[in-house]
Amino acid sequence: MFTIDDLADRLGGYLPKDEIQQVRRAFYYAEQAHDGQRRRSGEPYVTHPLAVANILANMHMDHQSLMAAMLHDVIEDTGVAKPALARQFGEPVAELVDGVSKLTQITFEDKAVAQAENFQKMVLAMSRDIRVIIVKLADRLHNMRTLGALRPEKKRRIARETLEIYARIASRLGINTIRVELEDLSFQALYPMRAERIKRAVSSARGHRRSTIRQLQTSLQQSLDDEGLTGTVIGRQKHLLSIYRKMRDQRKSFAEIMDVFGFRIITEDVDSCYRILGVVHNLYKPVPGRFKDYIAIPKANGYQSLHTTLFGRGGMPIEVQIRTREMEALANNGVAAHWLYKAGQTDHPIAQGSHARARAWVKGLLEMQRHAGDSLEFIEHVKNDLFPDDIYVFTPKGDIMELPQGATVIDFAYSVHTDIGNSCIACRIDRHLAPLSTRLESGQTLEIITAPGARPNLAWLNFVITAKARSAIRHALKHQQQTEAVQLGRRLLNKALAPFETSLEELPEGVLDRLLEEHSLRSETPLLESIGLGSRVAHVVARRLVGLLQGEPDASGAPTTEPSAPHQPILISGAEGMVIKFARCCRPLPGDPVLGHLSAGKGIVVHRAECRNLGDLKDDPDKLFALEWSPDIDEDFPAALRLEMESRRGLVAELAALITDAGANIERIDIEERDARLSIVNLILSVRNRVHLARIIKRLRNLSHVGRITRLGN
Ligand code: MN
Repeated sequence: MFTIDDLADRLGGYLPKDEIQQVRRAFYYAEQAHDGQRRRSGEPYVTHPLAVANILANMHMDHQSLMAAMLHDVIEDTGVAKPALARQFGEPVAELVDGVSKLTQITFEDKAVAQAENFQKMVLAMSRDIRVIIVKLADRLHNMRTLGALRPEKKRRIARETLEIYARIASRLGINTIRVELEDLSFQALYPMRAERIKRAVSSARGHRRSTIRQLQTSLQQSLDDEGLTGTVIGRQKHLLSIYRKMRDQRKSFAEIMDVFGFRIITEDVDSCYRILGVVHNLYKPVPGRFKDYIAIPKANGYQSLHTTLFGRGGMPIEVQIRTREMEALANNGVAAHWLYKAGQTDHPIAQGSHARARAWVKGLLEMQRHAGDSLEFIEHVKNDLFPDDIYVFTPKGDIMELPQGATVIDFAYSVHTDIGNSCIACRIDRHLAPLSTRLESGQTLEIITAPGARPNLAWLNFVITAKARSAIRHALKHQQQTEAVQLGRRLLNKALAPFETSLEELPEGVLDRLLEEHSLRSETPLLESIGLGSRVAHVVARRLVGLLQGEPDASGAPTTEPSAPHQPILISGAEGMVIKFARCCRPLPGDPVLGHLSAGKGIVVHRAECRNLGDLKDDPDKLFALEWSPDIDEDFPAALRLEMESRRGLVAELAALITDAGANIERIDIEERDARLSIVNLILSVRNRVHLARIIKRLRNLSHVGRITRLGN
């Protein structure tokens, strides 16, 4: 059985002693944490993290990645918290473990295969440190190697997820050794019969071909030696899934695929690659159109190599790949090759952040292809691929939504549907209630709670970041203001018609139409809206309507009937929102006598009857009218108080306690110290009504060190 000592021996090849010691420490910690747990195969659980660390050791990953591998199931399976790991092993290791755990929590399970690409991006977006992915890939690889003990349907599910997500991520990152093994293991789990048949066919074909392969290998090697070129010729085997895919997609027979002989030549530098290409083209004739220069133009994942196909004896095709040792390492290990190189050097950048690491990797690629043409586009591509700027979250049904970095719950709601955004009142993120302004993170599942009749809030505009949400909120608010203005306009007009003992609804047909015609309006909606917004005066419109009712020819004359009934005040409930506003100069409260002032374009502004600002407006009765508070108001209102108090410590706390105790909230508090003894405290409270405020003032007066108390705004 593979032990921690075996691993430590292996690490001795590339890590310093103190780092190996830390890896050991992580192992012992995991061993204890998983004590008593067993894998399905019956082995102690800790054999799994140990094996994962060993996979990473073969890739020469740094000690922090190895420690994270040891601890990767500790948070998820044993309930050890992240801060505890940070204390024991440092923040970077705890971050890595936490990252891997988060990936473990999201499963592909019943999410549609069509979303696989987004899922891959989400996994990458969730792993701002690329090492998280590499540890996760190693974890998945070991789980795939030990699938045997699982139920068939679970096996298939894991295999499908591995194929759709993790093998493709490995391919994206250029980690080919892991990709190939993940693909073959998934293939065998998904299609055991087909895999077995191909496996058998491959090994029997290999037997027949052994002598041909050896001959070709010798002649290739000989020709290099003759030209004085250093290079190693290796025979190449296709993996099971790639054979299967070729048979399926290119409709080739097994014999046709196996008829191709593959070799790889590894050499020192780029220059030698091209010289070796010349040599092999001299030895066998190249197949026209099959030469590919991936050194000059690398593949998207950084892969570099020369590819060519030759006509062997009797026309048998020979595929040859030529590359440097660095390119070979990159082809096998991709991103991870970065650590492979750095490990040999003393200054390897373990302390660097993930971005710095990715940058270093990309820089390394840049150096490798110095001879190549313009590769900036490629570099950008790789960078964007590694660290997407978008986040990916789930709907409750498992659909993946893509949103820009920094998007909030409201942005999400509008991206699902405008109606959902408009009627959104609350939200659950991963089943917990969360504020609507919460910034989202990749991998979260969101459930929006809506209520019929709910409306968007003006404050949402302060935090939404998507154009869709912003314009939908603006549109909805505008519409809401319109609706409210029309309702208010109707009430105002009916109030103005009441003294004439008629109403909008009672007017005979045609009367309103004639008025609309006079004003070139198409319907009553714009008329009522303009009255509600204060751009048209209700009394004037009412008089004209009465005039029309009495057969008056034009709009100039006054109505012949004078109003008989007294003015009925309009009731306000405080919930009108868009068209009834409360003046900040006097901050009226329910219970205060109030007057409404119609201000053009804004609707009604409510003032306290005693407000000084009303003085100038009182001469204009058309714009000023009686209001009354509705008896069932369910809102809090702001009230402003000014207190003179003795300066002393703990003053704010004392005030806060008293006010909260009285059932009110402090919205704002400012303290100016007049001198050493006297402070002026300006408070804005939210209270129920005038009586509530009076009760609070009474309590404040009882405090011995409080002097004069003034309610502001009159
Ligand atoms: Mn695991």
